[in-house]
Amino acid sequence: MALKDRYDAIRTQVADACAASGRDASAVRIIGVSKTVDVDAVAEAVAAGIHDFGENRPDELARKHDAFPSERWHFIGNIQSRHLKDVVGRACLIHSLYRPSHADKIDRLADAAGIVQDVLIEVNDGEENKQGLSASELPAMIEHCFGLAHVRVRGLMMMAPKDSPEEADASFARLACIREEMRQRFGAQGLTLDLDELSMGMSDDYLQAIPYGSTMVRIGRAIFSDTYGLCG
Ligand SMILES: *Cc1c(COP(=O)(O)O)cnc(C)c1O
Repeated sequence: MALKDRYDAIRTQVADACAASGRDASAVRIIGVSKTVDVDAVAEAVAAGIHDFGENRPDELARKHDAFPSERWHFIGNIQSRHLKDVVGRACLIHSLYRPSHADKIDRLADAAGIVQDVLIEVNDGEENKQGLSASELPAMIEHCFGLAHVRVRGLMMMAPKDSPEEADASFARLACIREEMRQRFGAQGLTLDLDELSMGMSDDYLQAIPYGSTMVRIGRAIFSDTYGLCG
């Protein structure tokens, strides 16, 4: 199958999954994770109708953004302070923020660039060796970001466990629940939290994430590899 056929099939699946859970198809953004492919494949993806791309390395994000500046580039990788300058301003959204010191640095860089940087906070669903915050660590981080004029928290991101569909389900449900807890907690203080975005679901589980309210699925192999099967 060509890239366009795979993408069209995924779009149809996503639209069907949205319909099945009473959601509008436009509520879920498909992000093509292009970290393993080069600009020729990005060009093919753009031609196929993909306009959101995800990268996990700052230098690659910068290179591909500069080759395709009018597409939307999402940073989904591990943040290293000294490389943030390549990311802030180029990334429409940084999905993987979880350290206050990184938020401070993003704030300074965004201030200097005269922009407000949209971010998601990464939640770690109790798995070892994974980045992100636990639910109990989240309020302090959200409060920290409230104090930064050039950082806007738009929602939460998570990587689900890969081992079993049941665990992934439980994890997606948990992230939706954590979002609700945060809204209530801050709502009780009179603060309205814009946590509208939930970035969850990858090649193996994007369809599973939709009933739980995913608004962004990050799909790499199912779009860019012609040997990888589709979800479901
Ligand atoms: C690589 C990556 C993806 C895409 O993974 P696939 O399984 O290829 O769809 C999604 N999110 C993050 C954070 C990644 O690093």
